[in-house]
Amino acid sequence: MLQALIVLLTVSLIAVGIFIQPLLQRQHRERLKKQPLPPLWRALIEQNLPIYHQLSPNQRQRLQGHIQVFLAEKQFIGCRGLQVSEEMKVTIAAVACLLLLNERSTYFPKLKSILIYPDAYIVKQPAANGPYVVEERQEVRLGESWSRDQVLLTWQEIQADARNWRDGHNLILHEFAHQLDQEDGKAEGVPILKKRTDYVRWREVMSNAYDQLCQAVGRRYPTVMDSYGTKNPAEFFAVATETFFEKPRQLRAHHPALYTELEQYYQLDPAAWG
Ligand SMILES: [Zn+2]
Repeated sequence: MLQALIVLLTVSLIAVGIFIQPLLQRQHRERLKKQPLPPLWRALIEQNLPIYHQLSPNQRQRLQGHIQVFLAEKQFIGCRGLQVSEEMKVTIAAVACLLLLNERSTYFPKLKSILIYPDAYIVKQPAANGPYVVEERQEVRLGESWSRDQVLLTWQEIQADARNWRDGHNLILHEFAHQLDQEDGKAEGVPILKKRTDYVRWREVMSNAYDQLCQAVGRRYPTVMDSYGTKNPAEFFAVATETFFEKPRQLRAHHPALYTELEQYYQLDPAAWG
């Protein structure tokens, strides 16, 4: 009798986890999306997401809904005494949600909190110095994406990015592209795709474009994408995402296959935005 009760309880808990929780979460998100956007938030989006005006009315509305969900679900933490403001939260949410705009409502599922530093921060890293000596090296960073639960950003850099949307550099786009890549637990430049066959094409297009960038950088040729993309395939995807949104026409002209691949993945065509 007791055993039967335990089995029943276990099955009920599993059912709640598998069916009821996601359903409740979906309903809650739909309610959040329908909430009117506070006028201050709208003004901040218009100010700090320069391409907002170029989106269609439909896309703007969808983005506003995503921002509402993102702000309700993620925690923001100010570091080194930084007071987190509405402007910081709304700006980060707006740019990050651009990556989710079409066809993707997963909201960076592993991400729980966003840590904001006022400006560049220093990380101590162990570095090998010969076979038996490990030293501590200091590294200056502007941002990071952790596959477990956090993204680290610097406000000074975010503000600079907001003032210049066309230079191909955007810290928020970069770190949240890493989040998409890390969603399956691996940072290897391959986010979760829809079909099995998509992975074959993705790897082919990405590795060709990666090799092309490495060769061009090796020969010191000018490139559309930042040379940081040569570091590894994960950084390449993050840098390609920044370029896709900030220099879409140049990317399409120089790397048409890569542009098409990202266009299909994000279900967006930024080259058509004004
Ligand atoms: Zn990176």
